[in-house]
Order: sequence, then structure tokens, then C-alpha cells
Amino acid sequence: MKKNKLSRLAHAAAARWLPGRRKLCVVCDQHVGWFLPHRGGWRNAPPLMRALNIVGSDLDHVECPACGASDRERHLLLYMEETGIFRAINGQTVVHFAPERAIVRCIFKSGPARYVRCDLFPSHPDVERVDMLAMPFADASVDLIIANHVLEHVADDSHALNEIHRILKPGGRAILQTPFSTKLSATWSDVGISDDEARLQAYGQEDHVRLYGSDIFMRLSSCGLQPCIKQHDELLAQFDPVKYGVNKAEPFFLFIRP
Ligand SMILES: [Zn+2]
Repeated sequence: MKKNKLSRLAHAAAARWLPGRRKLCVVCDQHVGWFLPHRGGWRNAPPLMRALNIVGSDLDHVECPACGASDRERHLLLYMEETGIFRAINGQTVVHFAPERAIVRCIFKSGPARYVRCDLFPSHPDVERVDMLAMPFADASVDLIIANHVLEHVADDSHALNEIHRILKPGGRAILQTPFSTKLSATWSDVGISDDEARLQAYGQEDHVRLYGSDIFMRLSSCGLQPCIKQHDELLAQFDPVKYGVNKAEPFFLFIRP
């Protein structure tokens, strides 16, 4: 076993078992000492990402040492619980991209009429292959779409958003959590940024295809969806972000088809 892997396992075991555990993972309901950093945390992130104040995962406090859930999964779970979206799912049609295990469990418990878990590159037999640019769903047939950190991977996001708008019923909702920079005024990408290293440096991850700026909410609603963006403190003020290991700066990206 490689030294790095051993040291990561030892770090995870310490975070999970050492006494004085004050953090709480809402996915596995376990108290832990701390949440593990992603790829060495912010100090190892590309300098441009640090300089541009990227809102997404808090890279220093990401992975639960007990269940492996990420901070964005914990945050989405809390947002969906507190807004009553899980309760509303009973009898509804739900389309869920890149499905997170904890969210899947809660959705099944809520009793949807139809629940499609999908991905462009599915890695589990229960997940269907669906391209967000050509979704196999009828117009106005879906009540809820969940795409947590997906749009930053999609080459033609405006086409994907038109598809989301098309399949949602009037009043239907889309949860579209996406990382963005609060300092960048306009979303940008460039066809010359085409290899892994360039994308990592420019967009923050090898498989991201653009970096969203503070125009993100306008851009995501340009297809006709109505943005209903709420901050952590508006919905989750009772949940201390440090204790629950979530990024307080990450808002809830809720969009409604009028
Ligand atoms: Zn956990």
C-alpha cells in the first residue's frame, strides 16, 4: 500500500475515533473529530481558484471520515429537508443526475411515483445513461430535477438548461448547485483551455469546462426558469456550518419553471 494512502487512512481513523468529536455528519449521523480535506485542501488548490474566491466545496472540510459523504452532499441534504422538498416528492416524478447515496435514500423514503437516477457515464446498474443535452423525457413531465455540481461539466450549458426547462412541469423545480466565483463578473471559458492541466488551473478541476462568475444566476435562469436562490443563513441558521461541515457561503440554487 502506498505511503500516501496509508497516511490518509490513519488520518481518517483519527478523525473518526479520537475522543472529543464535536462535528456531526447528517448523512451517517455520526460524531467525528473533523471532516477530511479534498486533495490537500485550499493550500493545494490552483492559485487562481484561491484568488477568485470560489464558492463550492470548502476544500478543507469535505469528506466524512465515517461514511465518505462530501460537504456538498451534507449541505444539499439539509437544504432539501429544511425546504420541505423531500416531503413534496411523494407521488412526484424526479430526475436525479449524478445521484448521491444519501439523497437517493431520502427520495425513496418519500415515495416518488417515478424516480430516474441518471448520469452521462453511469457506474452503477441502477443508474441510467442520460445525456443532459437530449433527455428522454416528455415535455412538462417532471416535478423535480436534481443536478448537484453537474453543469460545470456540461459543454453546452445553455442547451442543457433549455432541456431542463422543457421537461419540467409548470411549477416544477430544479436544484442546480454549481461552483462559481464571487469575484469574477462574467462566466468564462476558452476553447484553447483544452487539456487537463489547463482546465485544472483555469476552472479548478480537470473535468470542468468553464468557470462561472457572479452572473451565474442570470445565466442559469436565461432559459426561462425563475431563480429562487437562498443563502445558508436564510434557511439553515440553526445549523452551525463548522459543526455540520458545510460551506456557509454556498447558497441553495433552486429554480422554478413558471
Ligand atoms: Zn458521515
